[in-house]
Amino acid sequence: MSTLSTVTDSTIDEEVEVTAEDLRAAIDQAEPGALLMSMVHVTGDLALLDEFEDILADSRSASAGETAKTHYGASSDAAVVLPGEFPTDVVVAIRKRAHEVLTTDVTPRLGVPEPGLFRRMAALCTVSEVDDEFIPILLEQGGFELGRRRVPVTKTPPADLDVIVIGAGMIGLNAAVKLDAAGFGYKVFEARDDIGGTWSRNIYPGAAVDTPSHYYSYSFELNPNWSRYYPTGPEYLEYMHAVAEKYDLIKNIELSTSVLSADWDEAEQKWTVVTRGADGRIQHHRAAAVVTALGVLNSINVPDIPGLDTFDGTVIHTAEWDPELDLTDKRVVVIGTGCTAVQLVANIVDDVAALAAVVRSPHWIVPEKSVVNDVPSGEKWAMKHLPYFQNWFRLKAYWLASDNLYMMPRIDPDWAATHLSVSALNDRVMQVSLRYLDQTFPDRPDLKEKMTPTVRPYAKRIVKDPGFLEALKRDHVSLHRASPTSVQPNGVTLSDGEFVEADIIVLATGFKVEYASFIDITGRNGEKLSDRWDGGNDPRAYLGIQVAGFPNLFVTAGPNAAPNHGAGHNITSEEHVHYIIENLQYLVENNMSSVDVKPEALAAYNERVDESLDKTVWAHPGEGVTGYYRNQQGRPIVPCPWRLVDYWTMLREPNTDDLVYTSRRAE
Ligand code: NAP
Repeated sequence: MSTLSTVTDSTIDEEVEVTAEDLRAAIDQAEPGALLMSMVHVTGDLALLDEFEDILADSRSASAGETAKTHYGASSDAAVVLPGEFPTDVVVAIRKRAHEVLTTDVTPRLGVPEPGLFRRMAALCTVSEVDDEFIPILLEQGGFELGRRRVPVTKTPPADLDVIVIGAGMIGLNAAVKLDAAGFGYKVFEARDDIGGTWSRNIYPGAAVDTPSHYYSYSFELNPNWSRYYPTGPEYLEYMHAVAEKYDLIKNIELSTSVLSADWDEAEQKWTVVTRGADGRIQHHRAAAVVTALGVLNSINVPDIPGLDTFDGTVIHTAEWDPELDLTDKRVVVIGTGCTAVQLVANIVDDVAALAAVVRSPHWIVPEKSVVNDVPSGEKWAMKHLPYFQNWFRLKAYWLASDNLYMMPRIDPDWAATHLSVSALNDRVMQVSLRYLDQTFPDRPDLKEKMTPTVRPYAKRIVKDPGFLEALKRDHVSLHRASPTSVQPNGVTLSDGEFVEADIIVLATGFKVEYASFIDITGRNGEKLSDRWDGGNDPRAYLGIQVAGFPNLFVTAGPNAAPNHGAGHNITSEEHVHYIIENLQYLVENNMSSVDVKPEALAAYNERVDESLDKTVWAHPGEGVTGYYRNQQGRPIVPCPWRLVDYWTMLREPNTDDLVYTSRRAE
């Protein structure tokens, strides 16, 4: 991975000479909204905004809602669901105008615009209404500015207000970058022998991110070099390595080191963290604060299928993939049909002799063609060389993946009473998915029937198709709407009575949700986090981060913190790390040693969470819906009920009314 570009680098590479040919290709291929904004930056000509607001308005009234194909090449069905696309005639006009006004001198005449102008530009770029409340988050998420510190910074953190971070995945690395920048001492322990978390672990064929590359990355480290609109696992891991290298993080990360326990010492106001290294050595560490950066999906779900251990061939879970495993000419059974299974099947289908896809209950699958599309070279060039192009591109990617989708899982009771979908909006996704099934299987009603879900849309994650449905049509592929009931040495028996011979069984069966309580964490008065959370089944945290009785413990990406109506883990990462730094700085500024959440604040917050979730399909998924969003009692423990902009706003700084502090002892 070559250059990353921080917010402060701006977007222009001074070294490269811009040729007319490069510029032409960029203009012809670049996303039109971001291209138009870049034109405004380069020329400083705000009349371009008037001009294109008028063109857009004229086009809309003339075409009365007709939409173009999406920029990324997805079907126009997707454009019906997602806002943000310009009508074709406007796209043509933008490109024509860009050819006229852009020259090889692309020095920007306009920097980051003031909020009023920024709002106007954001609205035109995204072809949407953009209210003032979104401006701060868009400035940050577009990479126009670094997340603003809120707690006044007048003092340097003392050396003894140091932090242990558990995990070196997306959030752990983010925490390391920001703790370092804020002047806090820190150490990261990572159980695996590499950084990268999910993306170092999930190395099955086809592993990829299903959130757009230009958004699923740090807003303070834009990467103009993404090769695809959705990154592959290896490319994402490369990005994380590049970030770790750029910020010199490795020196503070101990790899192959598992955290066994963490105990709060009230008298000393310190955590004692016990680790086991690769050589088995047990070590004790002290730190003022602990940040768990463990992600959500750690523990693999291995189905309890009788006879699984008697299988003569290979049984492998996707999260424990062996890169040496040779699938060539093998008979493979794949169990599961989530994001992982569809990526795997689409990517191994050419290699195997036979493939049996075992689908217990299909997800709603949508035709997101851009999942496998390369970013064309002209657009990549624009990311690197057209001022602010990549910022606007990222802003738009964020916009389309976030609160536009907030109402999707929300139930309209009247609608839901008579439909499988839960609202008219939710129904549009269902119709897109149904049409996709129709289009893919015009003469295979058998496949269509087997892949038609009976669950409400959004009750389980919507799956973007990298080629799974097409793969099912291949002659050597069989589709089974069934569950495995037993395994014999030479194959799998299914609930439909069929027996499938196999050399390899792939468990694409996902994970069990486990927040931090799988580590032995003891807070005030000897209380265990796992007891508080009923063995992990009922995790509750204030803002998804703090647990009463566990001072200076910050559980990142904790309960009810995942933006399941949109995406992605990246924004949770940045929000949570920001909130932690603000809390720690508050301690510094006010001569405190620890912060805890008041039990009543934790309870009140969770009441609000439950009340809001009760209006969603996650809390009322319908009959027989399984999956990792809910606990044993059916309470959704993963999804965050708030709009991203609301949650982001809640996490700007500590609400001291909800928190309780301990003063530092006199030296
Ligand atoms: P998943 O969404 O939990 O899907 C697991 C699949 O296994 C489901 O189809 C499930 O069927 C099936 N299954 C589980 N136990 C079974 C059993 N005993 N018998 C038959 N089928 C069984 O897991 P995943 O696909 O690994 O995805 C997990 C999460 O990882 C995703 O939701 C996503 O958040 C993330 N992911 C992300 C990306 C990305 O691009 N960022 C890529 C891959 C995964 P039922 O539906 O009937 O339970």
